[in-house]
Amino acid sequence: MKILVINCGSSSLKYQVFNMEQEEVLAKGNVEKIGIEGSFIKYENNRGFSSKDEYIIKDHSDGIKLVFAALTDENSGVIKDVSEINAIGHRVVHAGEKYAGSVLITEDVKNALKECIELAPLHNPPNIIGIEACEDVMPGVKHVGVFDTAFHQSMPKTSYLYGLPYDYYEKYGVRRYGFHGTSHKYVTQRAAKMLGKPASELKIITCHLGNGASITAVKNGKSFDTSMGFTPLEGLIMGTRCGDIDPAIIPFLMNKEGLSLEDINNVMNKKSGVLGISGVSNDFREIEEAAEAGNELAKIALETYSYRVRKYIGAYAAAMNGVDAIVFTAGIGENSGFIRDMVCEELSYLGVSIDKELNSQRGKELDISNSEATTRVLVLPTNEELMIARDTKEIIESL
Ligand code: AMP
Repeated sequence: MKILVINCGSSSLKYQVFNMEQEEVLAKGNVEKIGIEGSFIKYENNRGFSSKDEYIIKDHSDGIKLVFAALTDENSGVIKDVSEINAIGHRVVHAGEKYAGSVLITEDVKNALKECIELAPLHNPPNIIGIEACEDVMPGVKHVGVFDTAFHQSMPKTSYLYGLPYDYYEKYGVRRYGFHGTSHKYVTQRAAKMLGKPASELKIITCHLGNGASITAVKNGKSFDTSMGFTPLEGLIMGTRCGDIDPAIIPFLMNKEGLSLEDINNVMNKKSGVLGISGVSNDFREIEEAAEAGNELAKIALETYSYRVRKYIGAYAAAMNGVDAIVFTAGIGENSGFIRDMVCEELSYLGVSIDKELNSQRGKELDISNSEATTRVLVLPTNEELMIARDTKEIIESL
């Protein structure tokens, strides 16, 4: 069975084709700068071929057409024609309270996702455009929606309600939704496998630390609480996002700095986080370099970032009445031994003890705990595309 996975952003799209028998990636790539000058498609196959070609790509439909042409190319392609694709799995950010799992896309599903545009105005529109573009270019193929919010639909009301008038939840759906669900679900499954126990018997804290970052309390295999909220702005300090702040700061700053709602939104989403604190970059490699060279604010940014992660780990261990394993994943979680070390430094009360040598490794699945540790610390590279492909296969096979 061959599955095409599509992840559409506002001006870009990523794709991968999996052969599901071996879960092997046959081809992958991305289309960038859709609708703007300098657009191009990158393509690589599992035989070592890679290319980057510039075209005028005016919309996502054009982009999908180029993906399809690359996949079916006589020399470098991996399929002969559209009939070889059994299904297409689409990453969709927001499904509100509508779906707690992946679903076959129908007209009703598309309408439900359109209703969620209000909750994810930047993400859902390109996701829907991607689905429609694929329907256009590859008619007759089945489509599955895999939602970032779905894994978190298991959260109890006590985790997802805010201390606001209940009316706002009922009228507008103001509640915690959580994001990165596909990644949290994937690493939960990998962690259970590594620990040799079913996820249903484990309490795991999964730290997805990438440019966007979130942390989830996974109790008995289900999301019990998560740090991102109504939007992906809440929770941890991120590359450029502020995470938790006192909401009263917003009107205070608007008043002091003469900022509009749009301005303050921009500050909180694009100019804050470790970039805002350090003034150096949102890239942890550059901040770590600056800190090593003696930049005091860079050092403070890393310490404040790690402290927030540690605080959430403590909160979630308390919320679940214990923790068996802490998982680090995504760009920073997988690659920065420095951050993992800082986060784990003061977690001895939870039975965390990491091995410095193991912690210096990266790029593979690792248990970095010492033999005396009672809570395991795992580094698990995430693979959202594979998770989407697996979900898609499962849905198609159940039809
Ligand atoms: P992601 O959003 O998961 O792709 O993560 C991207 C972020 O991971 C980058 O902005 C970097 O801050 C971080 N990152 C990637 N590689 C490293 C590394 N070797 N050391 C520290 N941070 C890294």
